[in-house]
Formats: sequence, C-alpha cells, structure tokens
Amino acid sequence: MGGLAVGIDIGGTRVKLGWVEQSGRLLTRSEIATPVTATPAAVARAIAAAAGQLSAGDPPGGSPALPDRIGIGCAGLIDRRAGVVRTSPNLPTWREVPLAELVGRELGRPVHLLNDATAFVLAEAQLGAGRGSSPVVGLTLGTGVGGGIAAEGNIMGGARGFAGEIGHMSIAHDGPPCPCGNRGCLELYVGRRGIVAEYLRRAPWEPGTSAYERAGGDRRALSPRLLAAAAQDGETAAREAFAASGRMLGVGLANLANLLDPQLFVIGGGIAQAGDLILEPARRTLRERAMASGGEAVPVRPAALGVDAGLIGAGLHALSSGAAEVSS
Ligand SMILES: [Zn+2]
Repeated sequence: MGGLAVGIDIGGTRVKLGWVEQSGRLLTRSEIATPVTATPAAVARAIAAAAGQLSAGDPPGGSPALPDRIGIGCAGLIDRRAGVVRTSPNLPTWREVPLAELVGRELGRPVHLLNDATAFVLAEAQLGAGRGSSPVVGLTLGTGVGGGIAAEGNIMGGARGFAGEIGHMSIAHDGPPCPCGNRGCLELYVGRRGIVAEYLRRAPWEPGTSAYERAGGDRRALSPRLLAAAAQDGETAAREAFAASGRMLGVGLANLANLLDPQLFVIGGGIAQAGDLILEPARRTLRERAMASGGEAVPVRPAALGVDAGLIGAGLHALSSGAAEVSS
C-alpha cells in the first residue's frame, strides 16, 4: 500500500475526499456537505462513511482496501501533534475536539490532522508553484487568510504546530479588533469582508455601476468574485478596492520577506482568482518595502494545483507522517 493515502479537506460548505498518490495525483474523489451543526462524533462518522464509500466505489489499481494513511485538513487553530481542533470557523461550536482520534476510531486507522492552509502550502511547495524553491511561504486568500511556511518541502510547524497563522499577523497596531484577540490583522483587509468594505468605502452604490447591477442592488451579494468582474468591466471603485487590499497584502509580504527570506510566495484561495488585480499592487508594495529586495523582490506566484491542493496536501501529510507509525 506504500504511496497511497486518503486526503480529506473539511471546508465551510463541503468536505472533499480523495485517494492521493505520493506523486500528488488524485485517483478518486468525492464530496459531502459539511455537517456544520452536527456533533463532533456525528461529523467523524459522516467523514468515515464517505471515506469508506470512496474505497468501495472504484478502488484504483485494484487495491481493495482503504489505505492505512489518512490525512485531514481543517480550517482553524489545529493542534497537529495532538490531532485536536481547538477552534474552527467552519465548525463554530467546536472546542478542543480530538478529531483525529474520533475519525481514526471509526476507520480503525491512525489519522493525521493539520490546518487546511498548511495542507495547501505542503502540496504547492512539493508539487505546485513552489516546487524546487525553498523556503516557500504560501497564503490562501478567502473568507479568512491562511498560510504556512515550507522549507525543503517540509512544513515549519513551530513548537505546537501552530506556525503560519499569517492572516493574524497584525499590520496596523491600532486597526479594527479581530475575533482572534489581536487588532489590525492582515485578514481583516485582504479577506472577503475586507475587499467588500474597501469597495463600499469608495463606491456610490447606485444603479448604473457594474457591481450594483451585477449584485441586483443587493449589497449582501457583493463578493470578491463579483467585484473582480466589475473591475474587469472597468469600474474604478472595484479596481481600487483590490488595489487597496493588494497594498495591505504587500505590507504583510514585506514583513514575511524580512523575517524569513523566502525564495517564493505562493498565493491561492478564491480571492487569488482576481489575479493581477490584487497581486500587482502587492508585488509593488513588497518591492518598495522589503529590506533586501534592492528592486528584486521575492517572486509572488499564483497557486498551481487548483481547488484540490488542500486535499492533496492532507494526503501528502499522511504519507510523510504515517511511515513511522503504520506497518502494512
Ligand atoms: Zn486576527
């Protein structure tokens, strides 16, 4: 069974599962709705059942059994060593949930848990945009901002596995309060709500503007994706909203460049789909602010593995973690 794992990515609305090869290739995949309101034990049962069906459905290469290596990526503060979800924005009622143990008991196999952005960075560093570069710093821009640091393809975990909370790096010491307890965190400016707020600060919000028409006049329909389309239509306020968020992203990247001297930044997540609307202002600010850049700043590249990077990374994590613990 060497070289095969099940990767699982618990998102805000969907749980994605797949068989992952050491090469990063996905052999089979499926999705279930995230049971957001269910108890941890019920979530564990649902995930285990989906993983079991995956193996029974179309086992690749004639392998009949579920692989012994199982990895789960989940948003939030994840104690990787203990396999515990301390808190998660996707499962807001959870506190100190031993998810690895719960799913492991259902499947009769050890389960390796990690932060979903960490899983993304692991996959991108080993097989995606960061392949061949070290260290690689990765960020996922979505509802929140996640991140991770990989050196020689391995994640830098820190003492308890919490390293890489890049979204909660403060870039404005007296900025707005963040639910994490800090103020002026990067994700308040670069995440979904930050970009929408930057737009509403600048836009007249009246019929005739692209964003207004695309949203059908409903502010709640505003999203980075909609604003990116409005920016492509030529709406100035939408372009400026991405530029403002991009500059804040650049401030964060300059801090990271000074701290870590990375060879490459990889940017993924839904908001990264806006491409140069947000990445060009970020690159410019990074060049202006990073100490050692001399005009040659660290390259900032979009992620290469698409929406399944987290799933693949969870599988890769299980493959590297499982070797010492599982004999097959
Ligand atoms: Zn924060």
